[in-house]
Amino acid sequence: MALEARVHCNCYETGKLLIPPPRPDQLYLAEDGGLACTDLYHLYEFEEWLEKYACRHPGGVALQHVIGSAGVIAFLQEELERTADDFPLLLGKVVYDANHAGDFLPVTELKDLLAETIRLAVLHSDDSEEESLLRNFERQLKGLITCAIQMRKPIVF
Ligand SMILES: [Zn+2]
Repeated sequence: MALEARVHCNCYETGKLLIPPPRPDQLYLAEDGGLACTDLYHLYEFEEWLEKYACRHPGGVALQHVIGSAGVIAFLQEELERTADDFPLLLGKVVYDANHAGDFLPVTELKDLLAETIRLAVLHSDDSEEESLLRNFERQLKGLITCAIQMRKPIVF
């Protein structure tokens, strides 16, 4: 299993849906920023709409990254723990476990997350593979944060 992160699009809130939902009165905005349906009986119909027809983002996801496998997450955690005080959010809410899913970082924490992500630039490894893992992590986080700020949505794991 790998740790994944995504940001939902805001096409619903900004009036950019291409096709309206099959049952608009059952549509709601979930806490993680994604669209959801109150009626479990028609869940399949809703999911198909969201996946294929709702907007230009399949599944209503504006950006998605695979952060890494359990081994990669363990490596990142170890690197960040060397200067743990600099990375409380990354250690506490991102790389604390490779298998967390369903939790999210709210918009109010994006500014602090960006500050921590900028601090990642000082972490380096002499090993080229490890170095590329660090740089990739930094790049992915910056992309997720930029997207989350644009969409005004949480980063979801
Ligand atoms: Zn969209």
